[in-house]
Amino acid sequence: MQVKDLEFKKFITAKTIAEKVAGLAHKINHDYKDKTPVLLPVLNGSFMFAADLLKEIKIPCRVSFVKTSSYSGTTSTGQLKTLIGHDESLFNQHILIVEDIVDTGLTLEKIIEELRGLGAKSVEAITLLRKKPAREKQLDVKYVGFDLETEFVLGYGLDYDGLGRNYKDIYKQQEPPKAGQN
Ligand code: 5GP
Repeated sequence: MQVKDLEFKKFITAKTIAEKVAGLAHKINHDYKDKTPVLLPVLNGSFMFAADLLKEIKIPCRVSFVKTSSYSGTTSTGQLKTLIGHDESLFNQHILIVEDIVDTGLTLEKIIEELRGLGAKSVEAITLLRKKPAREKQLDVKYVGFDLETEFVLGYGLDYDGLGRNYKDIYKQQEPPKAGQN
């Protein structure tokens, strides 16, 4: 399948994703059975995963969609991320961050730090996909769907230059990603 200048092939089918999502939801139903967690899907990429996951969650829960916004800061990297879209009700809550993919883990680390600063009672994360750098870093992600190497993927919410989010399967790029792609 061609998306813009890149060639992709089917990698994880919708059926395999659905089975994995049901399994993850089962664990959450068990682990949070006496709590009312707030699920925090991080847009845009996690919208499809979050919708399917939520349909399988049977315990009482709240949902608040968030985004990260980058802005120029004065740090050496020049980039700081901040969480937008959430409300005050995160104080004293059990938060479960819902991510589509964790690569270097930098985004997730920032989000966790910010939520702890807001006084959340607990902060955990679920990601459908986790790449090698996050694994090597031993970033604490409680629930992981699929472990990947470093391949660039799209579909099921994930995009390439804004395209491909609507596909129900996950595809991977046939050639190694070029610098600056993700
Ligand atoms: P991190 O901060 O963990 O390095 O980056 C996470 C973000 O990078 C994800 O939320 C996603 O937007 C983007 N990303 C990383 N790998 C991929 C990939 O293989 N495909 C797509 N579409 N986005 C990716």
